[in-house]
Amino acid sequence: MPAVDQSIEQQLDAYLNKGETDPDKNLAALNSIIAQMDAQTPVSTRVRALSYKALSLAYKQDWDAAFEMNERILRLAKQSEIPDAIAEAYANKIELLQGQGKAAEAYLLVANAELPLKDAKLPRVRYYVHNLISRIYANWNKYEEALTHLLAAQQAVAETHNSRTILRRQYLNLSIAQIQSELGQWQKTIDTASAAIKFGQQQNELSSNPDLWLLLAYAQTSLEQFEQAKDSLQHAIETSRQLNYPGVELTALNNFGDLYLRLGDYAKAKSYLNQALEMAQKNDDEVMVQTIKFNLGFIDVKQNRSKIGLTAMEEVLQYFKDKDYSLDVEDLLGEIAEAYALMGQYQKQADALMQRMKMREERINAEQQQNISQLQKLYDSKDKAQQIELLKKENELKQRAIEINKQQSVIWGLVGVVVVFAIILLLLMYRAARRANIKLKEANSQLANQSLRDPLTGLWNRRALQQTMDQRDQRDAQTKSQATDGLLLLDIDFFKRINDRLGHNSGDKVLIELSQRLEKMCRHSDRLVRWGGEEFLFYFEGVDNSSLRHIAQRVLETIAADPIDIDGERVHVSATCGYILLPFAGVDESKLDWERVLQLADMALYSGKAHGRNRACGITDLHVEFSQFEDQLKGDLSKAIDENWISMEIFEGPGGPTKVEVPSH
Ligand code: GH3
Ligand code: MG
Ligand code: MG
Repeated sequence: MPAVDQSIEQQLDAYLNKGETDPDKNLAALNSIIAQMDAQTPVSTRVRALSYKALSLAYKQDWDAAFEMNERILRLAKQSEIPDAIAEAYANKIELLQGQGKAAEAYLLVANAELPLKDAKLPRVRYYVHNLISRIYANWNKYEEALTHLLAAQQAVAETHNSRTILRRQYLNLSIAQIQSELGQWQKTIDTASAAIKFGQQQNELSSNPDLWLLLAYAQTSLEQFEQAKDSLQHAIETSRQLNYPGVELTALNNFGDLYLRLGDYAKAKSYLNQALEMAQKNDDEVMVQTIKFNLGFIDVKQNRSKIGLTAMEEVLQYFKDKDYSLDVEDLLGEIAEAYALMGQYQKQADALMQRMKMREERINAEQQQNISQLQKLYDSKDKAQQIELLKKENELKQRAIEINKQQSVIWGLVGVVVVFAIILLLLMYRAARRANIKLKEANSQLANQSLRDPLTGLWNRRALQQTMDQRDQRDAQTKSQATDGLLLLDIDFFKRINDRLGHNSGDKVLIELSQRLEKMCRHSDRLVRWGGEEFLFYFEGVDNSSLRHIAQRVLETIAADPIDIDGERVHVSATCGYILLPFAGVDESKLDWERVLQLADMALYSGKAHGRNRACGITDLHVEFSQFEDQLKGDLSKAIDENWISMEIFEGPGGPTKVEVPSH
């Protein structure tokens, strides 16, 4: 198990237990712990303390400092090669991105945390990271994966006995109940939540109880156990007031109103909804405000104040239309149709229902369109089968999520239990309401994320690079003109011989080993892409020519300096690369875009092959107007070099011109 500093770890436990809510005091408390650390402090402890500091900075809304701190943590962790530290560092980044609302970016990093997590030993780290990942998966409607990680977290917690064990057990219980409710397993939700509430009371660890009561009430309502549900909601309100959880209290008031509305007790429904409205306004929760107004309008219609009621409902409908929350609009149209029917306005009722049907059709068509175009983008036949499988699975999940949503939305179209997962470490950070229908929208982009990796090597694929470059295009012109980026294309020398003499499987192993070596060289902002069979492409953000040259040198060394061990045999491998800066020689990218610059790198590579392989060629300068040179882009570079239109630098890798030595059988 990785070494830790017991004294500092205990202080960090105490820090968490205290749950300081004042951002400045929170940070000061951490700083005084961090001040006791030095280079001798074990890396796992340092990574933990600094991760808390990054979160604490985020809590202060100092996001730049938080992400900068996280970069430092990642470097520290990667250098140490301790799986626990690496997993925690990535988890920290995921948590920061999530906190900033960058859900897709956070999701993309899950794989980076999962990989080292397999080898992590510290129960605290395993608990924390598994739990975090399960939360992300749950957000993306991947409930099976979420549950798997929760169980792993539970196992980790079972190995600990300290001041945080009880709290963590409660979080896990809450999370499990949450997933069960997402899956519509109402009785299981009730069992888990009731047991957890009891356990919390016995242990005097109450911080999860408001959420648990809320969840319990929700499941009871779904099973039409209305009296029990009222009792649970009452508990939810009382406990959230005691602990000052305004988000939970608001949801509970809201759900109380919903419940009475369902029971036909409009006076009580109104009284709760008005309390909720006041609170939502105080909390600046505009979506909630609108939703409550809609329901109050509905009550007005039911109570024969049709005109006022309908106007309110129509205004809210317009609000959601303007916001483009199409799933909400569909739900609201259903409700409003019911209101029209109550008023005897059957034509309007029919119109609303037609509109709803049309929206539904459009949405489903759009989703299918998107799926088809995503399929078309899958160019690599190797992972096609895998991708199609993924797509099918995705569609099943979506379908199920839609069904769950249908069951759930009686009046609100809102999932009542919106607030369940709080940011783990910062107990009192604001709990944003999430809704099932928003999750559904996100499920689409999830699919896109799945197909960004090359299946053999785990490196980014061409699509991922395209995305990076699209994002790069959106960077403002100023940053672009201030800094240059680098492209380096690499092709393994005589790779066919490796395949021929050792077999295709060994060839694959060489590709995997080289990918790992090259990946280790990358900074976070770099992109390493498997460009083709045995071709790799690096994209480096913010480099100049001399650092690019230096990197190219290191790439050649990384590949050729040490032979690769393939099933006990040492295989010497080398590669040839071409590199170039982007934009090239100041030529505007509207004239010479990255793909054409990459063609130049490719020609440089080809030139390196022709000069004997195991070397790097960089195109460094342009001495003529680009227009004069433009045609040359279609041919080879020799003329351009001969005519001194461009400059090229070239240097050898370790051991000089290549000779691929493959042990013969
Ligand atoms: P050089 O680049 O130095 O000119 O020689 P080369 O042998 O590398 O020639 P080339 O780049 O044309 O051939 C690359 C070979 O890589 C061809 C193909 O059989 C093999 N290859 C492509 N993808 C894979 C793969 O995924 N696994 C394995 N084992 N081999 C692959
Ligand atoms: Mg090749
Ligand atoms: Mg090759």
